[in-house]
Amino acid sequence: MITDPVCGKRINRGKAHVVIEHEGVAYSLCCPLCQAAFERAPGSFAKPALGEKVRRNPERRPYRGR
Ligand SMILES: [Zn+2]
Repeated sequence: MITDPVCGKRINRGKAHVVIEHEGVAYSLCCPLCQAAFERAPGSFAKPALGEKVRRNPERRPYRGR
């Protein structure tokens, strides 16, 4: 479960309407309204504690075909 930062609803991460990445953190929004609100003012809704860090650490990936 993950919290929608706009309405505060707890949603199943697989059932989020959309996942938006903002400053390296992925936020799950439950519906188009929350998505629109978030996109209008991401800075006021984005709270890293409510999102999930986007893992983009290249060192964690096995090197292939180099
Ligand atoms: Zn919502």
